[in-house]
Amino acid sequence: MSKIIAITNQKGGVGKTTTSVNLGASLASMGKRVLLVDIDPQGNTTSGIGINKADVANCIYDILINDVHPKDAILETNVPNLKIIPATIQLAGAEIELVPTISREVRLKKALHLVKHQFDYILIDCPPSLGILTINSLTAADSVLIPIQCEYYALEGLSQLLNTVRLVQKHLNTTLQIEGVLLTMFDARTNLGIQVIEEVKKYFQQKVYQTIIPRNVRLSEAPSHGQSIITYDPRSKGAEVYLELAKEVISYE
Ligand code: ADP
Ligand code: MG
Repeated sequence: MSKIIAITNQKGGVGKTTTSVNLGASLASMGKRVLLVDIDPQGNTTSGIGINKADVANCIYDILINDVHPKDAILETNVPNLKIIPATIQLAGAEIELVPTISREVRLKKALHLVKHQFDYILIDCPPSLGILTINSLTAADSVLIPIQCEYYALEGLSQLLNTVRLVQKHLNTTLQIEGVLLTMFDARTNLGIQVIEEVKKYFQQKVYQTIIPRNVRLSEAPSHGQSIITYDPRSKGAEVYLELAKEVISYE
């Protein structure tokens, strides 16, 4: 069985990319066949897993706009079992270029359908907006993983996100589910972090992952070396928690 998970939150800097790369690498290290789909024009997942954007022949843009077959865009990464469809800055034009096209909301879904059977997990790293790229991701996905940063305005904007999820469920993808809510960048030294955890748990209840991702400097260093935490520092706290999260994700299969 394969599962497509969209990692979504229209807020920037909440840990979407960090989670895509490191959950992907963790699942892959446990023997799962994983495809990362970078659909953020910033392409941080792409560079974060060691792909040089200058060498990318086909990116997600070519799949969405030029009808390139996804097999012609999938690249190997430096982690066995982990592949990626990269994004380059070319994608920045896609939000506008997709507007007048036919079946613009279902383009990613149709493309991923062609390769879905080759993977156990497809993780889509969404951009920080609720535009057409995120709509494509939610339409293609079986479920949504929402990272929430343990900070003061943590719940702000979430009703908008959940509203978008409901609209997609109603009109484009009736079986879309909430996979889970992930608390990120937790700092045990502050009371605020603990308050946010309580608030988020009250709101999402059993949908909140037991695994909480703490602030860990190794997690923030790894992307500049083009590596996931699993290869950059496998003994770090960051590696430990993302492996724990991967086990939790697998347990919901
Ligand atoms: P998003 O994709 O939602 O914009 P990122 O995953 O890029 O968020 O994270 C934002 C910044 O915070 C990045 O510089 C990243 O390296 C850093 N970061 C993310 N998670 C952690 C963490 N658990 N500990 C320390 N730094 C983190
Ligand atoms: Mg990102």
